[in-house]
Amino acid sequence: MARKKQIPELRHLDHILVSETAIKRRVTALAEQINRAYRGKDLTVIAIVNGAIIFTADLLRQLRSPLRLDCIRAASYHAGTHASGKPVVIDNLKLDIAGHDVLLVDDILDTGNTLSAVRELLLAKGAATVRTCVLLDKKARRVVPFDAEYVGFEIPNEFVVGYGLDFNERYRNIPCIGVLKPKFYSGRL
Ligand code: 5GP
Ligand code: MG
Repeated sequence: MARKKQIPELRHLDHILVSETAIKRRVTALAEQINRAYRGKDLTVIAIVNGAIIFTADLLRQLRSPLRLDCIRAASYHAGTHASGKPVVIDNLKLDIAGHDVLLVDDILDTGNTLSAVRELLLAKGAATVRTCVLLDKKARRVVPFDAEYVGFEIPNEFVVGYGLDFNERYRNIPCIGVLKPKFYSGRL
């Protein structure tokens, strides 16, 4: 078989934290867990974009429940530029979620600010249940208590890119999760 052409920006990585193969295996296992939990039920999946796009796309193709998909946007600011550190959730949902079982999907659970704010919003809109699925969990960074029902990998307190996660909007297309070489983080707050 011909070797896959590598993405040149892979060279910007200092090290890989989660390989492409490990991600694939884990996404399949998560999907199986979710399939068991929602067997016989309809599902509304809400992805927090842009970060969750690739994870959601891979996960969704392995879910068996009849489902609807919508996206929500949340912008978080670092403490240095925004005193509270609270995320701004842009409520642009098109679907009516009142009375529906919602699966909220995000790339990474960090301080917990984003997911707890989005979860509150969905419950306020009348969602019957809201469960959360994240690919990555940085438990050590939690500021507000938040546990996701479905977690791909617990990772150490390092800023990661790839598989949808960006640094300054780059590196989302890298197929694994990795940590950039320090020189590529220059300019980060
Ligand atoms: P939280 O509100 O839990 O602090 O942050 C969640 C959001 O912060 C994630 O959806 C993601 O956009 C961003 N984030 C947190 N940690 C990382 C990281 O290590 N890498 C990248 N690229 N984004 C992160
Ligand atoms: Mg995000």
